[in-house]
Amino acid sequence: MTDRFDILIVGAGHGGAQAAIALRQRKFAGSIAIVGEEPELPYERPPLSKEYLAGDKPFERLLVRPPAFWEERDVTMLAGRRVVAVDPDARTVACADGSTLGYGTLIWAAGAHARGLPCAGNDATGIHSIRTRADVDRLVTELSTTDRVVVVGGGYIGLEAAAVLTKLGKQVTVVEALDRVLARVAGEPLSRFYEAEHRARGVALRLASSVEGIDQADGRVTGVRLADGERLPAQMVIVGIGIVPAVEPLLAAGARGGNGVAVDAHCRTSLPHVFAIGDCALHANPFADGLPIRLESVQNAHDMAATAVRTILGDPAPYHAVPWFWSNQYDLKLQTVGLSAGHDQVVTRGDPATRSFSLIYLREGRVVALDCVNATRDYVKGRALVTAGATIDPARLADTTTPLKALLTTAGSE
Ligand code: FAD
Repeated sequence: MTDRFDILIVGAGHGGAQAAIALRQRKFAGSIAIVGEEPELPYERPPLSKEYLAGDKPFERLLVRPPAFWEERDVTMLAGRRVVAVDPDARTVACADGSTLGYGTLIWAAGAHARGLPCAGNDATGIHSIRTRADVDRLVTELSTTDRVVVVGGGYIGLEAAAVLTKLGKQVTVVEALDRVLARVAGEPLSRFYEAEHRARGVALRLASSVEGIDQADGRVTGVRLADGERLPAQMVIVGIGIVPAVEPLLAAGARGGNGVAVDAHCRTSLPHVFAIGDCALHANPFADGLPIRLESVQNAHDMAATAVRTILGDPAPYHAVPWFWSNQYDLKLQTVGLSAGHDQVVTRGDPATRSFSLIYLREGRVVALDCVNATRDYVKGRALVTAGATIDPARLADTTTPLKALLTTAGSE
């Protein structure tokens, strides 16, 4: 017999959990189930490369809601089940365990899987990703026998892991293919600031370097070989080179997409009664000049969940949320708002040497994004500037004697 739910959510992560929460908040009375391949109830992923890796936060404190919450809200949790196929005509999904689930509406919130190292030796023991709780638990069991770690990828997750492991006393080398860390997401001054911070704490950086292969003995990692011939000894390799959206069953069922599944401004896929939200959703983002992008952030997962739920419940409003993100490394709290891609000018507000400053990104004179390091006030007010698409004289933006709040009232906007 096929269990059938009015709303079936695939993926028990940030987006999936938030969709169920929002449905019940809006008094949806039909049946809801969340099917997820991980064995856990929905939990927060950001601490995996921060407090959870450091051992500073137990897993129970990562849970999005306590177990009783889901029971009280009558949300059926189908944990440990992977969906492998979607039949949009029959409105069913097939799971890897052979079971079939029916739906009235499907919300695909399956996120992504970590991209693996595309080189020889990538199957050796001691190579880890940081995407799930299980990944981190596995990694942590090896830490007591690990002195040297190579982190492949100088993005947020790689740098956060490098910061934690350095604090735990490990000798860490970060290998980054581009010529600066965070190149995909931030301007050069921010990259150089973080590079200096990591180096000051003993992290070695290999920029513009690529991994040629993994050395191993008896199936265990012993080192990493770089394309220039250098060999970095290591007992552990952490791979942080991006993600692959988990959308194969949807694409196989005929949904439009490629790098993710394409959704419209209401998070509808091209399949009837099928929505997609979060990391896997390729959408035209108003803060990226309408270009099709995927955002990988808690904000995006939560706000898309709200958008899909509104549409399902007959109260549609197009997705128009300001992107924001954060990263914690050492005692540095980075908060970012807006999207800096495509900027043509960067204003530095404050002195990076004080370790409290902001970068303000402009495109054709408009404020499009801020990266704020230990500068929460700038972040809060900067958000309003990004939302308004404000046009402000760069010299005034750089002047720390004028609060951003004051600039907002005098700004021109679109
Ligand atoms: P997820 O939360 O990944 O949930 C998807 C779930 O679906 C997963 O449990 C997955 O296993 C499951 N699934 C996949 N395929 C299937 C299938 N076929 N069948 C059933 N289940 C399936 N964002 C921030 O904003 N700030 C941060 O500081 C930050 N730090 C991060 C640190 C780490 C280590 C990681 C990994 C991510 C971080 N992120 C951060 C990103 C953020 O966690 C993601 O953007 C967010 O989790 C996306 O939510 P989602 O619901 O789309 O996917």
